[in-house]
Amino acid sequence: MELCRLDHITKRYEQGESVTPLQDISLVIEPGDFVAIEGPSGAGKSTLLYVIGTLLDFDVGELYIGGKDISKLSDVEKTTLRSETIGFMFQDASFIQALTVYENLRFTQTLGGTRSVDNEGIEAALAAVGLEDRKNFFPHQLSGGQKRRLMAAVALIGNPSLILVDEPTNDLNEEWAEKILELFAQKVSEGAAVVMVTHHGKYAQRASRTYRLENGALVGNEARG
Ligand code: ADP
Repeated sequence: MELCRLDHITKRYEQGESVTPLQDISLVIEPGDFVAIEGPSGAGKSTLLYVIGTLLDFDVGELYIGGKDISKLSDVEKTTLRSETIGFMFQDASFIQALTVYENLRFTQTLGGTRSVDNEGIEAALAAVGLEDRKNFFPHQLSGGQKRRLMAAVALIGNPSLILVDEPTNDLNEEWAEKILELFAQKVSEGAAVVMVTHHGKYAQRASRTYRLENGALVGNEARG
């Protein structure tokens, strides 16, 4: 079954100089897909992730998540859909500074109100990103790399079927970059789908399909064996 379908989506920003980062974009994402999106800075890669993640409205086209037409959902229904289906790893840290590492993950877990707290799930996510001994730290007490790893844990919490990650290897040394990508690859092998924005060609090679977003268009569809 399709996890996500973008049909002829166009997104414009009219604020300041008018730009059209997404122009007639169509894309289907299925369970087990690992999709990498490359492209120059400012091309619209983050915009594309926000659109797929139902966090940003678009001007033309249709978006389906799990077969549901997003335009037909209320804001509350979209929030529920997001919390049940989608894991985000944003480019900028988005933690609640007054909550500890553990509490931030618990908050993510219960966002949308449809899931109860699963302490084992939180412990497992912390262990996967090597932050077990930092669970009572506040975000400002973490290094850049540790914050990035916490962001990866946030994306994985609740076992989302669609994981959207924006430059996940930023701030990470080689070893942790590989480990985090391995975590995503593992989710893909378990049937989730990952869409990853990266400017590192090397890391894009992990993906089963790579696209380049440039001048509003998504080009290339390179299947890797
Ligand atoms: P990338 O992730 O590829 O670097 P972005 O999606 O962040 O690109 O941005 C694409 C273009 O859209 C850029 O020119 C950026 O300045 C513009 N843009 C992004 N967000 C907004 C916004 N909220 N309002 C106006 N323009 C925006």
